[in-house]
Amino acid sequence: MLDETREALLSDAAGLPAGPCAKCEREVLAYLLPDDGAERYACVHCDGPVRRVYLVGEGELDDLGYAVSDPLRPQGGCATGCAAGGCGVKRPG
Ligand SMILES: [Zn+2]
Repeated sequence: MLDETREALLSDAAGLPAGPCAKCEREVLAYLLPDDGAERYACVHCDGPVRRVYLVGEGELDDLGYAVSDPLRPQGGCATGCAAGGCGVKRPG
């Protein structure tokens, strides 16, 4: 199920959606709720509603207290995008 808006938001060029979460009392990364109609975002930590969503680049994630890695992206796997170069889980021989 492809959501064009989500795809656009998560593209490298656009950055990641983020906004203030009332519950967490900080700026958090947000994800688009799979709710057709109005665009509504929820906190990735507590699933609470996030208003005033804006896009942040990877370089700005530090300011929000996040690591550079994308939390929405599968991590630690070797199947795709092993860009870190530290993938030594499966070695031939
Ligand atoms: Zn939250």
